[in-house]
Amino acid sequence: MSRVAYVNGQYVPHGEASVHIEDRGYQFADGVYEVVNIDNGQFIDLEPHLDRLDRSLDELRIAWPMSRRAMKLVMRQVITRNGIKDGLIYIQITRGVAPRNHAFPSPLLPPSIVMTARKLAQPKAEDIETAGIKVMTTEDIRWTRPDIKSVSLLPNILCKQKAAEAGCYEAWLVDRDGFVVEGSCTNAWIVTKDNEVVTRQADNSILSGITRLSFLKALEDNGIKFSERKFTVEEAYNAKEAFITASTTRIKPVLEIDGKPIGNGHPGETVAKLRTIYWNLMKNGGNLPKVPTNIRENHG
Ligand code: PLP
Repeated sequence: MSRVAYVNGQYVPHGEASVHIEDRGYQFADGVYEVVNIDNGQFIDLEPHLDRLDRSLDELRIAWPMSRRAMKLVMRQVITRNGIKDGLIYIQITRGVAPRNHAFPSPLLPPSIVMTARKLAQPKAEDIETAGIKVMTTEDIRWTRPDIKSVSLLPNILCKQKAAEAGCYEAWLVDRDGFVVEGSCTNAWIVTKDNEVVTRQADNSILSGITRLSFLKALEDNGIKFSERKFTVEEAYNAKEAFITASTTRIKPVLEIDGKPIGNGHPGETVAKLRTIYWNLMKNGGNLPKVPTNIRENHG
């Protein structure tokens, strides 16, 4: 089945899909995006992802290109036309096409929207022994609003590339005070020696990961001690376990940070337990039962 993209109202062959050279997304990275995981033909955590999209658009004062209901219909069409059972859908919305000028176009123009989808083999809970990764730490060189899921990802790309060149899967970004912020494209977690699961609080310094929220809920539901607070690189080195989460990654154990083994250098029991809990949650429909309170409700 050949790939199909959705571009501003039309379904077009992936290889022929294009946007105007004066699209503000192309010229200024003036846009936002979402990535939603598809498991067995179902969107995972669809509503929280659309809530976050709404928040990102609102923060940048970009209008929705269509109603939320229409968005869901188009998303469904895109995955059907691409024959996706397991994979991801990428949605990008920009401020639209206008002569290059930094200030917003006046009058405002219709936003541009692009959707693409691709197949992805879904990881399995039992594959934990092969899922372990290495992480390196590096300075957080991003702007002060990474809570907005903007397409402006140059600092993230540079950090991820630095990690790749060092033989690591992910870069953990560190703030000026030595605290781990998050990964270049994942959220960062540790398990302390007294079994407390820790991840940084969702303020303006991190992207509030939808998977992060799912795991926080899983921790709460299963009576596992956790705290949303800052942790230092040193604390991470001395952690019993560490892991990362994101929509397509889900959860991966971190076995090494900056060349230092974490715990005994093997995936730990908390990560294994969380993987099992999460995979069971997915089998039961997966969606978060309620919209997280730090993301505002959207129009229907
Ligand atoms: N943090 C950053 C910087 C990201 O880019 C992402 C995902 O793209 C995440 C965290 C994880 O977010 P989610 O769980 O919603 O995929």
